[in-house]
Amino acid sequence: MNLKNLSYWQKQSYFKSVDLTIVGAGFTGLWAAYHFLERFPGANVQIFESGPFPMGASIKNAGFSCFGSAGELAGDLEEHSVDHLLLRMEQRVKGLAYLLERVPRKAMDYQASGGLEIFTDPIGFAKVNDKLDFLNQLIAPITEEKETYNLKKVWGEKDIYCKMESMLNPGKLIQYLSENVAQKGARFHFGCEVVEVKSGYVWLKNVPDPIPSECILLATNGYSHNLVPSVAIQPTRNYVMLTQPLPKIPIDFPVHHHQGFVYFRPLDGRLLMGGGRHISLQTEFTSSQEIPDNIKEWLINFAKENLHLDLANKIAMEWTGTMGYLEDKTPKCLKTDENVYWIGGYSGMGVGPSAHLSKEWVKDL
Ligand SMILES: Cc1cc2nc3c(=O)[nH]c(=O)nc-3n(C[C@H](O)[C@H](O)[C@H](O)COP(=O)(O)OP(=O)(O)OC[C@H]3O[C@@H](n4cnc5c(N)ncnc54)[C@H](O)[C@@H]3O)c2cc1C
Repeated sequence: MNLKNLSYWQKQSYFKSVDLTIVGAGFTGLWAAYHFLERFPGANVQIFESGPFPMGASIKNAGFSCFGSAGELAGDLEEHSVDHLLLRMEQRVKGLAYLLERVPRKAMDYQASGGLEIFTDPIGFAKVNDKLDFLNQLIAPITEEKETYNLKKVWGEKDIYCKMESMLNPGKLIQYLSENVAQKGARFHFGCEVVEVKSGYVWLKNVPDPIPSECILLATNGYSHNLVPSVAIQPTRNYVMLTQPLPKIPIDFPVHHHQGFVYFRPLDGRLLMGGGRHISLQTEFTSSQEIPDNIKEWLINFAKENLHLDLANKIAMEWTGTMGYLEDKTPKCLKTDENVYWIGGYSGMGVGPSAHLSKEWVKDL
């Protein structure tokens, strides 16, 4: 559909004096609208979302209110600076605290379950265990816990328990935030793909006239490469499978394995399991939504060998989502033009950080 030029009436009604245009109705975009309307009540805020409803990682994820496993942190220390690691942990902790302050637990099915990291080989466990005291000390000023991680025998002989992990329902959280900002006046335009952005204007697919806006926030995370080529964000596929209801679920909290590359959790009497991209890292740097059969097969084998669950014929649903990866793994808020900003780069853990980064962005406006 080519809408040709906008009419006088369209410009006067929909697109007059827009204070903030947000591109993307995921957690980042919705939290940004939430904070902006709190700081500037009555502001004219519009949200363009290319899907008929939110279509990004925020509603395709696994519903871990992710803190991060000791294995992930130990792995990060080999590749990233301590400063970056601490910054990420601070973003996660502050974001999750803020989430709990503002969203009623029931509204997002929040479960303060704690979480487990499991190991299938003694060498892998020893490597992380050796660093456990150091990690606990390093992040204690952020978590305000002496022992954020501690050894616990739950699944295997040697598991690492983390009291900061929890679970939620991302679909409910998206709905809650959407309704909240709509009540405060934010206007949603679904099915509207933004194809170009310059200071003061956005362009929609099939609409030649630019849409004016005082301020613009790109909240497109893993889908940002075309809109903001200056940001080196890599779209990264992540696979999720959900079983049929099972007679017995082996766990009642979220579990990480292999630095968080593999994860599973209980969900409504089913098992949700996903990740596995470590077996094929390069092919998963893609925005393709195809099911990666090699990863699916690997996860099914993992469940058979380690959880003694034969899931081959028990998968009721499966999907993929697109994460946004940055080389230093650290989410960022960047100014890309005058009054144009980008927030993203959650590198697979965005539930907490999206609430925190968007809040800091609005504070600094
Ligand atoms: C399978 C999977 C599992 C995950 N599990 C977890 C987890 O358990 N815990 C956790 O903390 N994090 C998890 N993550 C990461 C987390 O979901 C993301 O970091 C977070 O949702 C990012 O939110 P966002 O709003 O920035 O981006 P998104 O949710 O991706 O939102 C971007 C939105 O922008 C829209 N859009 C894109 N381009 C345009 C355009 N040109 N014009 C208009 N609209 C556009 C998209 O349709 C989308 O709705 C997971 C991610 C995936 C993919």
